[in-house]
Amino acid sequence: MRTTDPGDAARIELLLAELRLPAVKQVWASLATQADKEGWPAGRFLAALAEHEIAERARRRLERHLAEARLPPGKTLDTFDFEVVPVVSKAQVMALAAGDAWLNNGANLLLFGPPGGGKSHLAAALGFALVENGWRVLFTRTTDLVQRLQIARRELALEAAIAKLDKYHLLILDDLAYVTKDQAETSVLFELISARYERKSLLITANQPFGEWGKIFPDQAMTVAVVDRLVHHATIFEMNVESYRRRTALERKRGRGRPPIHATITANA
Ligand code: ADP
Ligand code: MG
Repeated sequence: MRTTDPGDAARIELLLAELRLPAVKQVWASLATQADKEGWPAGRFLAALAEHEIAERARRRLERHLAEARLPPGKTLDTFDFEVVPVVSKAQVMALAAGDAWLNNGANLLLFGPPGGGKSHLAAALGFALVENGWRVLFTRTTDLVQRLQIARRELALEAAIAKLDKYHLLILDDLAYVTKDQAETSVLFELISARYERKSLLITANQPFGEWGKIFPDQAMTVAVVDRLVHHATIFEMNVESYRRRTALERKRGRGRPPIHATITANA
């Protein structure tokens, strides 16, 4: 059986480092041994190495994109109960999770509804699915991002800060309605929305629908302009459902309150 010459082996390690092929560098020696032992054609060996490098790169990219997305843990589409939110169709959400149809056009998704209705969960779950499908996403509380942008503006770097967010195909602004109703804060938000208009998507969750937004954005003309841009290419889910937490708490209570005889009957049925 032919084996790799030790001199070649040392040279290969250096060359692979120089070529920045860390995954190949990791596996080439054991694959070479296997190839020598099993008498692989040279082409098969090369293909196996290239495939390994590509798979590793994809894995590392996904890892990076998941880390940078800052998604709240555990909120996935698998754990989202679509039955309690009839207005949100699972098929439509699954289509949105593919991304192409809306993220390529910079279209938006707006989730409205009272607290506890699953807006943040659905937003995070969609974000997670999109990252898995190769898109770049950032999940942030609206107040946090607004603070960051205000700092940037004080440092005369607002434009650059907004441009830096361009790398994200989707920016998830959670709880827009909780932004303090202050002119300086809302104007950075306005600039962000304008900058992304028809180019990069936004997913916004809010407790109040647009009728109440006059209270968020002090300037009426500004409000009209913002709302106009947001809804121009947008899918809107009005998630007017009872709080999921309250609902599950009530169900647990009802379960516990059942008379024992009832439980016995159902157990035997
Ligand atoms: P909102 O952002 O609308 O206030 P959340 O998304 O934070 O509501 O939901 C509150 C809690 O209830 C979270 O723990 C969330 O995971 C859970 N929840 C809400 N709706 C659903 C749902 N349809 N299926 C599964 N869990 C849900
Ligand atoms: Mg929320």
